[in-house]
Amino acid sequence: MHYHPKSDLLNNRIILITGAGDGIGREAALTYSRFGAQVILLGRTESKLASVQQEIAAKNLRPAFIYSLDLLTASQQDCQRVADQIAQWVPHLDGVLHNAGLLTDITPMAQIKLQDWMNVMQVNVNATFMLTQALLPLMLKSASSSLVFTTSSVGREGRSGWGAYAVSKFATEGMMQVLAEEHKHTGLRVNCINPGGTRTSMRASAFPDENKDKLKTPADIMPLYLYLMGDDSRRKTGISFDAQPGRKAGPAE
Ligand code: NDP
Repeated sequence: MHYHPKSDLLNNRIILITGAGDGIGREAALTYSRFGAQVILLGRTESKLASVQQEIAAKNLRPAFIYSLDLLTASQQDCQRVADQIAQWVPHLDGVLHNAGLLTDITPMAQIKLQDWMNVMQVNVNATFMLTQALLPLMLKSASSSLVFTTSSVGREGRSGWGAYAVSKFATEGMMQVLAEEHKHTGLRVNCINPGGTRTSMRASAFPDENKDKLKTPADIMPLYLYLMGDDSRRKTGISFDAQPGRKAGPAE
């Protein structure tokens, strides 16, 4: 995407990012912060979140908050606690990027372990739903807020071996569509991003043998992440966007 926002695009915006300690989420947190947002970093590994927080502090950007939560074991009460804590910190939320995700072994449906299926659904669907439900009141307090889910090309067209992960991303697309329609007369817009093959540890676990140099980095795909959090997208809702339009799915050669 060719998008060159002004450097103050996200001034005064308050944005929560899940999975903010690594990969795409880490880059999104640093990018949003650089464009003026106050960010709330949520993730599993506190030390990784603290390192992103320190990087933001070292650049004299608006101080970031961190909240560590393992979405694999998170309950509805845990998600409500997140919302309650955030309400102590800030008056509202202008953006939520649901980025944290779990991918397990690539294996045929017939061989998926039930526990793997449950884990992927818990992180990618159930926890995302519970967190969204808890955070909606804070988002609706903003005059213009943006809820962004992370999908995948296998969440639009099933692919052999991608089992629970693919099904969880279809569910993510559905969650986005339902919420977008429910909020079309409010200031809340709801969309999905499909990052496309991106150089992260999740990608490396799925395609260990591909040529990583041919993959976009998280920084390369940030224009769409910025666009959807800033005012330029305020009339867009119910859409599943591609950060790398036209990219063919599958390993980079
Ligand atoms: P990474 O594995 O690099 O990062 C995922 C992040 O999510 C990590 O910070 C990780 O925490 C966090 N996370 C994972 N499980 C949990 C959990 N149980 N509780 C809290 N946080 C958790 O993945 P990517 O950056 O590649 O992926 C980001 C998103 O993009 C995912 O939703 C993925 O499905 C999607 N995607 C990625 C593609 C790619 O090519 N990279 C392609 C299509 C979609 P920790 O740091 O503790 O491990």
